[in-house]
Amino acid sequence: MTTALSTLERARGKWREILLQLGVEERFLTGRQGPCPICGGKTRYRYTDKDRDGWGYCNQCKGMPGIILLRKLHKWDHRTACNEIDQIIGTDEAPPIQPTPKRPDDKIRGEILKLFNGTSDDRVINDWLTLKGLGVSSDVLFGRKACGLFEDGQFVGHVPTVIAPIISPSGEMVSAQRLYVQQNLKKTMPPVGTINGASVRLHDCEDELGLAEGVATSLAAYQLFGIPTWAALSANGLKTFEPPPSVRRLVVFADNDSNYVGQAAAFDLARRLSNRPERIECTVNVPDEADTDWRDVLLTRSIV
Ligand SMILES: [Zn+2]
Repeated sequence: MTTALSTLERARGKWREILLQLGVEERFLTGRQGPCPICGGKTRYRYTDKDRDGWGYCNQCKGMPGIILLRKLHKWDHRTACNEIDQIIGTDEAPPIQPTPKRPDDKIRGEILKLFNGTSDDRVINDWLTLKGLGVSSDVLFGRKACGLFEDGQFVGHVPTVIAPIISPSGEMVSAQRLYVQQNLKKTMPPVGTINGASVRLHDCEDELGLAEGVATSLAAYQLFGIPTWAALSANGLKTFEPPPSVRRLVVFADNDSNYVGQAAAFDLARRLSNRPERIECTVNVPDEADTDWRDVLLTRSIV
């Protein structure tokens, strides 16, 4: 349910912009003693935006919130002033969203690096591989015996987790994915900058590279086809993937999504790369059955 907010409620915190757009010159809004926008003088007025309501004080006019300042300046009634303000700030019901201050990249980078502190516990990695039915691994994976897990904001506990580093096209670690072993759950850390184009570089590659979405799917494709395969982590990751300059042949191991999201992303990537002057040969492989990925194919083959 939304409650209707008045113009003044919606205008809170936006007065500098409002006043400037409605004819109050910037020189009146410096926050220093100066002439009054209404009655002049030299030092009788000071704009403070107290309570974020456009407030200023004049020795002669006395205290004036932004709305009163505008009414006096333009000889508007309250309704007219509100209409003018609405034209600038809009009339959406929602209160102004204060952008959450973005954490500095250094802090995010530190949190990501912390996941790789100490020595990797290979038993954790092996447990995860076993649970996924995989017979190959990757040196870039890092096993943590105890990694904090939160679900819906609730702390669940410290649990065994495989950490996969996410590397940007330029080779910088921009995030990491936590693969919680027993919970069959994966979570990606907030990235430094953008995660677009980035991937988990599971194996060294030269001119031929495979690409799949998930880490487990990528390892399964590697096991099935013997092509070094990186994980783009999501359909968006596939779509925006940037191969390293050495790659001449890219094999996309797409998921067979019944809503075609995975396939569409794979073909988007193939189309984008095939339009490049350096000509990257691109093929898209999709498993036959709907709602399966290449790990499902591997598991089915192992059973047969
Ligand atoms: Zn005045």
